[in-house]
Amino acid sequence: MNQLQHELNKILDANQFMNIAQFMETVVPYYYANNIAFGKDGDFITAPQISQLFGEILALWVINHCITHQIAQFNLIELGPGMGTLMHDVLRTIKQFPDIYSSLGTVHLVEGSERLQKIQKSTLHNLHQNIKWHNNLESVAELCKASDKPTDSLQSGAANIIIANEFFDCLPVRQFIRTKHDISEIMIQKSQNFGQDNGLNLEFTIRPADFQPKIELEINEIYEQNINYNYYCGLIKDIMNQSNNGGLSRALIIDYGYVERCIKSTLQALYRHKYHDPLKNIGDADLTALVNFTELESIFESFGLNTHLRLQGDFLYEYGIVARCSDLYDRTGVDLTDQLERLTDKKQMGALFKVLEIY
Ligand code: SAH
Repeated sequence: MNQLQHELNKILDANQFMNIAQFMETVVPYYYANNIAFGKDGDFITAPQISQLFGEILALWVINHCITHQIAQFNLIELGPGMGTLMHDVLRTIKQFPDIYSSLGTVHLVEGSERLQKIQKSTLHNLHQNIKWHNNLESVAELCKASDKPTDSLQSGAANIIIANEFFDCLPVRQFIRTKHDISEIMIQKSQNFGQDNGLNLEFTIRPADFQPKIELEINEIYEQNINYNYYCGLIKDIMNQSNNGGLSRALIIDYGYVERCIKSTLQALYRHKYHDPLKNIGDADLTALVNFTELESIFESFGLNTHLRLQGDFLYEYGIVARCSDLYDRTGVDLTDQLERLTDKKQMGALFKVLEIY
């Protein structure tokens, strides 16, 4: 058994069952600490790796905001930067606008994996003087609390601009199912059958739960509840509400997810670019759940913040992806039309992926 299997085994020996959220919380950090994850040799590919256009358009969103509101000072904060590709393209683009770039204070990167922090350092080391790494978002929020007095890293009065691409899909969910008799929670237990994973063979089961789902369920329908949304949204709110920035902070959450009523499991494992049984090759496959954007919107609105949700394709069109793509072609002969389509086409990433702007 590897270290992860030992850990899961220990929890199951002590409690017999674990819920899906406990499983995700244990597996996801291990996965990012130990796997290539991204790109051809990994398990999945994200928008910044598909195309430089993605980061360039996000940068234009930042630049547009800075110009419209004549922002004198801003910090950039990214959750889950992966290989650092998105921040690389954002910084490279902002640097084309020296007036805006001169207003950029600190870049804060929130990354739980030490291995990925190292990769991000090598991707970004020449792009900006002032980049700080954090193991969690709380550490950025702590800096904000202290920044009633100006500090070198989060100036009082500076707007904080937060971006998170494919971060929220890593956060753990619990799953509740309506049975003939009650509401039960979907749990994981050790299977009696001999396992392929060196003796740790897991299976799903259900246990009666004292829980009232937010939506009405028919028999066999599943309600997913993310257990970390409140925590992360609360920290984002704290960082955005840092004193004296005049409400000029913004956040952008981009992910695959839904807005309509969802009554099925969205737990998904990807292994070498193919869907995989979440209970097989545990720790070697990427594990995610779709993002419930309606829930995120209502949490932010309950904090008194505003939200604007768009399809990824619509957002990228609005901030000029078509013009950027043809300009690049005219000036360099490089044709990124296929990448543009992959990011914006409704049958590809354009509609499944959504962009939630918080202000
Ligand atoms: N934004 C990147 C990578 C997305 S993958 C891209 O678009 O390519 C998810 C990223 O979030 C990884 O960098 C992973 O290590 C990080 N991550 C996941 N859960 C985390 C957590 N709870 N705290 C900090 N980082 C986390």
